[in-house]
This record gives sequence, structure tokens and C-alpha cells, in this order.
Amino acid sequence: MTSEIRIFGAGVAGCFLAHLLEDYKVEVVERYPNSCPHCAFGWARYDTVRKMHKLIGVNTEDYIYHKIKRAVVNGVELKVKNVATFDKREYIKDMRDGINLINWEPTCWYSDTKVLIDATGYRRSIISKCLGTCPEGATQDMLITCVQERLRSFTEPVIYIYGNRNGYAWAFPLDDTWHVGAGSKRGMTDAELLVRRLLATIPVDFGKRRCKCVAPVMHVDPLELSVDHPCAPIAAKIHGIPVITIGEAAFCTNGVGEGNTSAVESAYLTYGALKSTYPWNDSDGLVKQYMANMAQLWKRIHISYERTRAIEKGFWNALAATLKYGNEFLSFSPKALLALWRVTHER
Ligand SMILES: Cc1cc2nc3c(=O)[nH]c(=O)nc-3n(C[C@H](O)[C@H](O)[C@H](O)COP(=O)(O)OP(=O)(O)OC[C@H]3O[C@@H](n4cnc5c(N)ncnc54)[C@H](O)[C@@H]3O)c2cc1C
Repeated sequence: MTSEIRIFGAGVAGCFLAHLLEDYKVEVVERYPNSCPHCAFGWARYDTVRKMHKLIGVNTEDYIYHKIKRAVVNGVELKVKNVATFDKREYIKDMRDGINLINWEPTCWYSDTKVLIDATGYRRSIISKCLGTCPEGATQDMLITCVQERLRSFTEPVIYIYGNRNGYAWAFPLDDTWHVGAGSKRGMTDAELLVRRLLATIPVDFGKRRCKCVAPVMHVDPLELSVDHPCAPIAAKIHGIPVITIGEAAFCTNGVGEGNTSAVESAYLTYGALKSTYPWNDSDGLVKQYMANMAQLWKRIHISYERTRAIEKGFWNALAATLKYGNEFLSFSPKALLALWRVTHER
């Protein structure tokens, strides 16, 4: 046996778990080593990320572009807490250093190892392959396709958002560029429209485009997965080997498509389950512990889906959900109320 545990996907979740497991025999398989990591440049709940990174000796500050203090949501200015933009390319490059990265080959998903980890993001390549539930990852209707681009401009530590009940567009500063994009349940054309509407409201002089692409983000509430859901389950066994998902593959993206922080958290919670059940002879026990550890994270993600669904239903539902759950990033104030009203009334 060359490894005790094999992780598929050297993205945010896979790399973090590999570093946590440095005392074990771990292999990490990356299928698309030269592709641009999803241009997801935001850490929400930044304090949590910083604490987690300390565990593996990474200084989060080394990758930070801006700590965002202000947001302008549908024209209303609000205070933001605990959000930062970061250099994801450099971060992923450094995180891949020092882990046992091996080349992908057609048969490597099934290996002579004790545990398989699916950290392949929205593709869910390993778990879906094992079970034959969906041939290569999630089906389209569970993904929101986003447009994104990087535009040259000066920097200003503020995030601009323009949203309606179907989706939203964002714009925030990185180095000498801004990351601009949108996702909409109505599809790409609507997402492009949201971007145009947002850019028209921003008093920033955008210059040349540096790059543009389309990328999907998972949109499934993990607590609503039933056994016959096309993407279920979250953990499984193949020939007696447990297969466990982390990050986006484990539906750890919230109702507005953020998944970086919860990818790190899911890796940490899984690490806890792996550590406490080593040497993994009882695979049922490992899966049980993993499900128990992840339950707290899925519950929080579920709440963010509740908030998003409430916005889709209109202002009064959105207000009730905000009163019930609060908001992790924005202070709840009359101004926030006005922004909420605008989001729920925009067409
Ligand atoms: C346009 C857009 C903007 C976003 N913005 C934000 C944001 O601002 N903030 C935020 O928190 N989140 C954001 N997200 C979500 C965030 O990108 C993801 O949730 C996060 O990257 C998930 O991390 P992960 O490690 O689970 O998966 P990923 O980071 O996607 O990593 C998966 C890895 O698996 C590899 N892989 C795929 N298939 C295989 C295979 N068969 N074998 C081996 N390896 C494989 C991939 O190449 C990749 O390296 C955004 C997403 C999109 C699409």
C-alpha cells in the first residue's frame, strides 16, 4: 500500500486536509494541475480561516489583498465585518508545495488505500463514479453557472453588489484589478445583465479586461439531500473502502455561492473524524464520526439557504429570516433594511 489515504483534488479543501494529515501516509491526486483555480477571491468569516491556517503554519495575511469594510448593496452603503479578498492563485500554488501530489491516471480513483477523499469540487468525480448515481459529478440544474472577469482599475476596499431574487452580481478589488462577476438562476444572459447593471452604478473607471471565463458553483442545500437525490450521498463505500467528500463536493457552498471558508472548515472537521478513528479498520465508525462532525457545518449552510430562499419570496420573508438568523457579514440597521427592500424589489 503506497498510501493510507488518497485525496482527489488539490483545491482549497484537498490541500488543507493534506497539510493537516502530515503525520499520515497521504497522496493527493490533481487532474487539472495547470488550470486556473476558480477565481473565487473572497474569504468570508475571515477570522475562522485565519485560526484554521495557524494549525498548519500558514499566515493568512500573506495572501490578503484587502480587508473589506464597506459594501454597497443595490446602491445602499453598509458596514461589513470579517471579509477579505485574497490572492487565490498564489495561495493554491503555495498550498500544493509540500504535499505528496501525484499524477492523475484513468484508474487511480480506485486505489489500494484505506480511505478515499473526494475533494474535486462541484464535479464530485469520485463519489459519483463509485455509485454510478450521476456519471461525472452533479447535474446541471444543481449548479449555478457564473460569469466572471478581471478588469483593471485602481483599488478601493469596498464590495459592490447588485442583486435581485434570481441572483446577484459582485465587484471587488484585488491587486490592480477588480473581480467582477454574477450568477443567476435564470442563466447566463441574466447573469451578464446583472453585471452590466452593477457596473453602471459603480463610480470607478474600469480599464482593459485581463481575463474572462464561465464557472459553475454548487447550489444544493446539504440538509435537503435525500437518498434518491441525483447527487446523494455525501459519503459511501466502494469495495469496503470508505469514500468521504469535503468542500464543494460535500455541498459546502452557502446559499450565495461562497465556499472557500467552508471548504477549509469541512477539511478540519473531517480531519477530526479521521484522527479519532485511526487506523480506520472500522469504516462504518469513520463514516459515522464524519457525518456527526460535519452536521454542525451543514446546519449553518442550511441557514444561509433559508436566508436566500426568503429573499426569493419577497421583503417580508427576507425580513423575518434576517430577524431569526441575523447576518454574519452585515450589521442589521435601517440602511440594511433598505438594501434588502431594494434587492427583493429589483426585477
Ligand atoms: C465564479 C465563482 C466565484 C466564486 N467566488 C467565491 C468567493 O468570492 N468566495 C468564496 O468563498 N467562494 C467563492 N466561490 C466558490 C469557491 O470557488 C468554491 O466553493 C471553492 O473553491 C471550493 O473548494 P474545493 O476545494 O471544494 O473545490 P475546488 O477549489 O474547486 O478544488 C477542486 C479541485 O479538484 C480538482 N479535480 C476535479 N476533478 C478531479 C478528478 N477527477 N481527479 C482529481 N482532481 C480533480 C480540480 O482541478 C480542483 O483543483 C466562487 C465560485 C465561482 C464559480
